[in-house]
Amino acid sequence: MNRPSDNPTEDRCSPSATTLTAWDRHHLWHAFTQMAEYEPLIIERAEGCLLYDIEGNSYIDGVSSLWCNVHGHRHPHLDQAITDQLAKVAHVTSLGLSSPTPIRLAQRLAELAPGELEHVFFASDGSAAVEVAVKMAFQYWQQCADPKPAKQHFVTFSDSYHGDTLGSVSVGGIARFQAIFEPLLFKTFQLPIPDSYRSPTGVNAADLCDHHLRHLEEILAEHHEQIAAVIIEPLIQGAAGIVFHPQGFLAGVRELTKRYNVLLIADEVAVGFGRTGTLFACEQEKVTPDLMCLGKGLTGGYLPMSATLATTDIWNAFLGKHAESRTFFHGHTYGANPLAAAVALATLELFEQEQTLEQMPEKSARLGKLLEEIRSLPHVGDVRHKGLMGAVELVRDVDTKEPFPWEEQRGAEVCQFAIKHGVWLRPLGNVIVIMPPLSISLSQLDQVLEAIQLGITTLADSIADQGTATGECSTD
Ligand SMILES: *Cc1c(COP(=O)(O)O)cnc(C)c1O
Repeated sequence: MNRPSDNPTEDRCSPSATTLTAWDRHHLWHAFTQMAEYEPLIIERAEGCLLYDIEGNSYIDGVSSLWCNVHGHRHPHLDQAITDQLAKVAHVTSLGLSSPTPIRLAQRLAELAPGELEHVFFASDGSAAVEVAVKMAFQYWQQCADPKPAKQHFVTFSDSYHGDTLGSVSVGGIARFQAIFEPLLFKTFQLPIPDSYRSPTGVNAADLCDHHLRHLEEILAEHHEQIAAVIIEPLIQGAAGIVFHPQGFLAGVRELTKRYNVLLIADEVAVGFGRTGTLFACEQEKVTPDLMCLGKGLTGGYLPMSATLATTDIWNAFLGKHAESRTFFHGHTYGANPLAAAVALATLELFEQEQTLEQMPEKSARLGKLLEEIRSLPHVGDVRHKGLMGAVELVRDVDTKEPFPWEEQRGAEVCQFAIKHGVWLRPLGNVIVIMPPLSISLSQLDQVLEAIQLGITTLADSIADQGTATGECSTD
């Protein structure tokens, strides 16, 4: 593609929609996007759960700006928190200096987090929070009170997602994203995904949890002397397609890691901050990990910030005289940024002021009811949700659970339909993801699910038509 020519009559500070679209296609390299096929949708402003594009069309934000918005866009309390902080200072480095707002945020997170997760390391993205946790776990075993320097490896789950830096990709398990980088990654012990919808052959639903825990125990029993940590997305594997672990699995993993003297890293980047109905997903199985990664919803979807929380036992392993080199030699320029910390604190305040978690059961129940109406539609293999984290999984064959080939982008077809009907959604392969801001109203939730329902019906009709046109038997 050629460089878009500048229109000399246009003001560079207020380009027309056409110019913006051309610049967007050419200059802005979008995340996880095939730029050769990219179709711009340019959002100029937002309010609550509504996004407005440069043509003035509005869309309900059905996936909370990629899973991070919590209390809606342009919330006056959050906007004010940033303005107030801006009147003091925008950035103070955390290398050798400190600032009241990030100090208060660290204290507040320590207070809210389960157990003894008292020590908070700030970075800017979820990937970095995971990178930090992985490095901390590794270094911990080199220098804890009873060092085990052979513990250098990690146990991971297939199809897990922990971010895009090389360390976080190494502990991830989404083959399609990481295949090309394989030579750059470190090896892990990878276990199969504990997927409640797709049990391995011969394993019934009631045994699924024990089946996967047995797998883990075999690895730990044989290799625990080389294993630093198990890393897990608690309860739900997000990017895998909102895959639900069997109930009790997380608690079982915690018990086994304790028994085999292995650390547990809980990556709450997607499930944290109320998404599954409790502030942190770990609470639902009364689990305290050794390291907990937070991101996405931490600032309510306003500014980049992430955090890695560590127990006092881990913290203690890093204490000593400077010359002992027990320091954690890691840090990011914008770590503990006061503006981000201000909006994170305000986000946490809103959980109380607006009783966000108290309102979750009603919204979650509504989402559940609407999903049940979708369950019986053709090509719907499964619907599932916890809190306001929901999914519709499309399959080619409902009985065998045979997926549509990913290249067919069936999820994207339904989401495109929804976008035309005023609901912005972004799928994961064949899975339609429903993750609105927690502040979404019941009637907006109805509209989101209605758009999905119509989209699936339209998709199913077109598949049925193609089937008839090519003389195939329709199985619907
Ligand atoms: C999104 C995500 C990450 C990565 O966070 P970024 O801010 O995109 O780097 C890590 N872990 C989980 C579970 C996620 O969903």
